[in-house]
Amino acid sequence: MRRLLIVGNWKMNLDRQASLALAKGLVERLVMPTDMDIAICPPAVYLDAVGSVVNQTPVQLGAQDMYCESNGAFTGEISASMLVDLGCRYVILGHSERRHVLGESDPQINSKVLAALAAGLIPIVCVGETLDEREAGTTVEVVRRQFDGSMAGLTTYQISRTVLAYEPVWAIGTGRVATPEQAQDVHADLRMMIEKRYNTDVASVVPIQYGGSVKPENAAALLSQPDIDGALVGGASLQAEAFLGIVAESKEEKV
Ligand code: PEP
Repeated sequence: MRRLLIVGNWKMNLDRQASLALAKGLVERLVMPTDMDIAICPPAVYLDAVGSVVNQTPVQLGAQDMYCESNGAFTGEISASMLVDLGCRYVILGHSERRHVLGESDPQINSKVLAALAAGLIPIVCVGETLDEREAGTTVEVVRRQFDGSMAGLTTYQISRTVLAYEPVWAIGTGRVATPEQAQDVHADLRMMIEKRYNTDVASVVPIQYGGSVKPENAAALLSQPDIDGALVGGASLQAEAFLGIVAESKEEKV
């Protein structure tokens, strides 16, 4: 059984005051469905402040990235245990902006995934093809390669503690959303990858989110697909109204 998971990725947006106001707006207005998990991922510098607003509420805290080492001389980096210390439950890893803007590779993402799991965080591991790759017909190949590279060496238990997010790069922040069928095809293939490498039982419990221009208007159609278990939301998570609208449009758990 898989619970829906809706996560807001605030990226490098908002200041301290706006972050606190958005978190308060969500906490106050959220009518929490019992069959769903909700998390927000503010900029790292506001995790502590936002964490104090969502603490003891159904809204959980996540980070947008972390480093693979646990401590030491890594100027500017943040470790998994620091995120745990701040109350984080999730960490987004391998987001397309980190892959394509900051040049992160699958092996680097893999080392972060393993470090996150070792610290007790739930990694949300992003995969997805560019527009050129989709038009060249290589979507499945690209996503499988990213899955294999980013998830290398995970045990069955570790994969069962991981969330995958299919985020076609051409749909992120563009307003151009994948059709429910396009997304479902990739999600089903990812689930088959898990089944092949592990087993059917674990493949049936790993949540696979869709991300890429999710809005209240398109959430229901996407989330009604059998293998789409939630949404990773960028732009629309910056407004309480839109984020709560997506939550309201999302439906029951997947069996
Ligand atoms: C994202 O950043 O993960 C994302 C999906 O962004 P957007 O919803 O703005 O497309």
